[in-house]
Amino acid sequence: MRRRLSPKCCVFGIGILIILWMTFNLARWEWKLSPEPSHSQRLSLRARKSLLVKNPRTQGQGLQSFSVVRHCEELSEVFNKALVKRYNQSLLYSLGVVSDPDDQRARDEGYQKFAFNALISNKIGFHRALPDTRDSRCRDVTFPSIHLDTSIVICYHNELPSALLRMLHSILDRTPEELIREIILVDDSSTLDEVSCQIEAYVNQHLPKVKVVRTPERQGLIRARVYGAHHAKGEVLVFLDSHCEVNTDWLEPLLLRISHDPTTVVVPVIDIINQDTMEYQSSPLVRGGFNWGLHFRWEQLPDSDRKDPDLGSKPIQSPTMAGGLFAMRRDYFHRLGEYDLGMDIWGGENLEISFRIWMCGGRLEIIPCSRVGHIFRKRRPYGNPAGSDTLLKNSLRVAHVWMDEYKKYFLNQRPQANNVDYGDVSDRVSLRKRLSCKSFQWYLKHIYPEQILPNDTKPVKSDTHHQATKAKFSMKKTRVIVRHGRLKHVSTNLCVQSEKDIYTKKALLTFAECDDVSLSGQKAQLWFETVDNQLMLAQLLCLDVESAMAGKSYARLMKCQDSGSSQTWTWTSKNGFSHLYNPASGKCLTATPPRVGGYLSLGLCTESEDQHFLMS
Ligand code: UDP
Ligand code: MN
Repeated sequence: MRRRLSPKCCVFGIGILIILWMTFNLARWEWKLSPEPSHSQRLSLRARKSLLVKNPRTQGQGLQSFSVVRHCEELSEVFNKALVKRYNQSLLYSLGVVSDPDDQRARDEGYQKFAFNALISNKIGFHRALPDTRDSRCRDVTFPSIHLDTSIVICYHNELPSALLRMLHSILDRTPEELIREIILVDDSSTLDEVSCQIEAYVNQHLPKVKVVRTPERQGLIRARVYGAHHAKGEVLVFLDSHCEVNTDWLEPLLLRISHDPTTVVVPVIDIINQDTMEYQSSPLVRGGFNWGLHFRWEQLPDSDRKDPDLGSKPIQSPTMAGGLFAMRRDYFHRLGEYDLGMDIWGGENLEISFRIWMCGGRLEIIPCSRVGHIFRKRRPYGNPAGSDTLLKNSLRVAHVWMDEYKKYFLNQRPQANNVDYGDVSDRVSLRKRLSCKSFQWYLKHIYPEQILPNDTKPVKSDTHHQATKAKFSMKKTRVIVRHGRLKHVSTNLCVQSEKDIYTKKALLTFAECDDVSLSGQKAQLWFETVDNQLMLAQLLCLDVESAMAGKSYARLMKCQDSGSSQTWTWTSKNGFSHLYNPASGKCLTATPPRVGGYLSLGLCTESEDQHFLMS
């Protein structure tokens, strides 16, 4: 018998129906407010699930990756491979011209956040042609089929989107597809929200091979790389800094070498992308070493390498690596102990892995046929949450684990290291035992016999990372003079000279009545222009800018460096006015004011008489 519905039951039923109807409508209304999930959002949601990989070291601390769906200003760049643009030097220089205060603000902000010229980087776009910097013998090679695939791991903390995205396109444009399993971007808790948002949105929408994972809190580049490596599935890991551009056939020679010997770790030649002009410049063939302050340095190749007729196309054995760019088998990376997770933020890990590779049975080589450009920056734009000297702490860990009795040389160099807590290294000491690694003495004798031991008591002067980088590029070079004469301000006919004397570094430049340069010994106003567009006073010091970053800066005399620096000056003429343009600052030499005793500064390029100079 069917039971009759009671009136109470009816009211209850109707109530339920009303609630359901309201909920449904409310949901529809909300759905209308929130936009249709985009392709990128769906992708991110998928990515979010698939990337839930736990880092064994930090399990339990909730260190999981995720891809957040966020809305940010879209980057509207055409990502068409066919649109590779060519930028020669003068075009790049013209992109760098600071035309108005808005340009200046954008430029200054870029330098402050990223420590290179964001104004130019943004204008270049995502595809550009690069000069092929390889030895000609590398170009004729046809590669046999390579049966290895790679996971490219790129960590970043606050990277300029245009630089990172151009880098990703350079990889995708210049690498056979089958060699790339995936590209893993590790956003190491960037604090500039807009930046990581733009990168992530673009990648999710346009670059299916690229996955973004994010550390839940700042790890530093060492732990961030391990974190990325734990997500990787490719047979080979390639680590790259987040401001590189890869050159033609960059990956094949690296993989070829690894496929012949699975315990060889390979490094491309690191070409230079100039931080001020974004010019791509070839690097000389040098190898990695270190000083006893445990600073990495570039060194000339030993005679045996330099005399080798195959130099330029043959692998070069290197005692250490610079650290930012290298490739090795993934299983070997894990077997060899990944990285020392006790190291913070930046520094020291490159020497640690170099020592470990050699001492524990592997090899480290530079592959000259593989070229990758890297933006070398004068400073690192990010801080360290703890405010400590992470390079010192990390170097102490290197010394205590790997250097045996030789650690005393480091400790002598850095007396302040005695008060630094470098944490527990017992895990790394056990790793060294477990891998039956050789002694540091063996390493010095067989891998780095050129290394000189310092006098035990007298500390040798140590250079910094930046000096080391500079050292690489300021190898003695003869300067070719193209002309000489007085540097004159046209309308006043005044001459440019040092505020002090011709020998004083950092001296400002001022105007004076012109001397008679024909008189012997009168060099105070005699300028020499080199083939590299440098202006040398009395062939001693070079015309430079105080700071390529500051809004207002003055011209100064500095020790001459190599070209491509802030000492480059090009003559540009417009409507009969010849300016002296300084590409590093994007500005023109300006008289402030053009009278005796007035200074020379850098100003927005205009057609003002204050910027009208000539050499005579
Ligand atoms: N990096 C990171 N987390 C950090 C510091 C650095 O992921 O806490 C990244 C950084 O964005 C860059 C790479 O690690 O891609 C190497 O750092 P950097 O370029 O500053 O080092 P350098 O080239 O000066 O040695
Ligand atoms: Mn870098």
